[in-house]
Amino acid sequence: MRLFAIFGDPVAHSRSPLMHNHVFRSLGHDACYTRVHLKDGARLKETFFKLGLSGANVTVPHKEAAFQACDEIRGFAKKVGVVNTLIEEDSKLIGYNTDADGFMFAIEPFGVIKSVLVIGAGGTAKALASRFKEDGIETTVLNRSAKRLEYFKEKSFQTYTWESMPERTFDLIVNTTSAGLESDDLPAPEPLLRTLLGECHFAADAIYGKVTPFLRLSSELGLAYKDGSDMLLGQGVLANELFTQQNYSREAIKGPMQQSFEF
Ligand code: NDP
Repeated sequence: MRLFAIFGDPVAHSRSPLMHNHVFRSLGHDACYTRVHLKDGARLKETFFKLGLSGANVTVPHKEAAFQACDEIRGFAKKVGVVNTLIEEDSKLIGYNTDADGFMFAIEPFGVIKSVLVIGAGGTAKALASRFKEDGIETTVLNRSAKRLEYFKEKSFQTYTWESMPERTFDLIVNTTSAGLESDDLPAPEPLLRTLLGECHFAADAIYGKVTPFLRLSSELGLAYKDGSDMLLGQGVLANELFTQQNYSREAIKGPMQQSFEF
């Protein structure tokens, strides 16, 4: 039996084991998926091989460490330096990123989006902002602190901290920070968010399974919004396709994976 896992800190909240195990069982694929609470991202590769894994997903805060740990990076992950899916191939660690395509799938119902404000400057923000830019969407990045904005500046994104953010209009505002995941924090000061959301049509949060303070505020201000469930589904289908070595169609994977959201 092939073994898969998700690495993260925290990781107890992750629905990935349920999603992937349900797909494996439904498709009759001989594999099992578990979770690993990893504190030190530098130990990712060593732990992966020690556990004899065939593949893994990586979540907060290790996606950039995962990029560093890989022997080879394929596809979109190369562009963003962020890896959320690992595959063992001939004793080598191969890295992919399935988050950005998963998110594009999630926001399809919002229709044409021309401008986006990404809140946060971590791994998820890098993947999404790069993907938006690829699609010709005007993308601005807002982060609590300046250090992580350097990456975006170098890539010619407009970047702001809480203090420097001007009043601007966006079609969509996305929270990619972990504010609201375990705390009751907003991803930016409330007055600033009220101003920005007040001029916006759609809001999305990468966090799933709960109405975060950010989504609560968006709802109060009358915006259409989505939590991270569809993004989770999208990235999960693409990761499972890699785990099962493209033996099944995306549609065949998507059915049982979507079903697992009802458990
Ligand atoms: P990272 O650790 O790489 O980045 C975290 C970012 O959040 C940083 O920019 C940090 O700012 C900011 N941040 C953290 N806490 C706060 C706070 N209290 N207030 C304001 N900003 C804060 O995380 P990831 O990009 O890997 O993941 C972010 C979130 O996205 C997680 O909640 C994760 O669960 C979710 N996610 C969901 C997916 C899905 O499928 N639905 C897929 C991928 C991620 P600073 O630089 O100042 O420290």
